[in-house]
Amino acid sequence: MKFKSLCALLTIFILTSCASRQPKIIKKIIRDTVVINKITDKYESVRMANLDKYKISSSHYPAVGQDERVRFLVLHYTALDNDRSLNVLTSQQVSAHYLVPNDFTDSIYILVDETKRSWHAGQSYWKGINNINFSSIGIEIVNDGYYEGEITESNPTGWYFYGYPNMQIKKVAALAKNIIDRYKIDPVNVLAHSDVAPQRKQDPGPKFPWKQLYQDYGIGAWYEDAHKNIYLPKFPYDQIEDFEFIQTVQSDLNKYGYEIQKTGVWDDQTKKVIMAFQYHFRPERCDGVLDAETWAILQSLILKYRN
Ligand SMILES: [Zn+2]
Repeated sequence: MKFKSLCALLTIFILTSCASRQPKIIKKIIRDTVVINKITDKYESVRMANLDKYKISSSHYPAVGQDERVRFLVLHYTALDNDRSLNVLTSQQVSAHYLVPNDFTDSIYILVDETKRSWHAGQSYWKGINNINFSSIGIEIVNDGYYEGEITESNPTGWYFYGYPNMQIKKVAALAKNIIDRYKIDPVNVLAHSDVAPQRKQDPGPKFPWKQLYQDYGIGAWYEDAHKNIYLPKFPYDQIEDFEFIQTVQSDLNKYGYEIQKTGVWDDQTKKVIMAFQYHFRPERCDGVLDAETWAILQSLILKYRN
């Protein structure tokens, strides 16, 4: 008996030492001053100076001239499994405020305090604003990304993206909705990493269900089908290679929010922006080519949100 239990203990010891390093969990609660914000009528914690010699008044006098630092919500995929995602996001120079695992638990991890900047978007741009990290909350979603397969006409990159299980999307939706409501984030500022960095990023990819999030939870921006159907027959097929038409399309993409140079040619940077747009709004065909459907969706979005 004794020998048996010793063996069992030894096995457990070996197993735990082989397991990948898990980040340490911080249990200490850091207390800020909690006050009632007289504008919003809600309890809020205030981070403020703590001085030896002087007393900072504990009465709360909120100014009228203030707004939220957070203006954007950016969604990502990790392209790693649960353990590796957690490991990389807590031990390297990349981070996000939240991590949504794809296990069958109801857990979501907070990795960076919402009042702090997490390093998730890198060099980024949306609608005249650079460095989106300064003014955003970033959510990383555990997903394998894509694998490289056959190159076809409708899939010229040969990238085949992985889908998201519904139980994970439900978690993302609940979290996103809560953040959007608290910071009153504009629907057009709920974005994919690929929207704010189209030249170098694809995540969360075309399998991320933006339409479902809009329809079922009121999250983010989406076009009206009625508008799209009005624009569809107006697509100028005979002008598709015209300098002026291409420049107008580039201006329209920029008007909606994307960073793009108005070169008047279907160059590589334009193709990547169109692809990012398709990942978000036209996932059935992500080839970076502006067809009637993509154009009509872009016009419908501008009509609804940018006029
Ligand atoms: Zn990303």
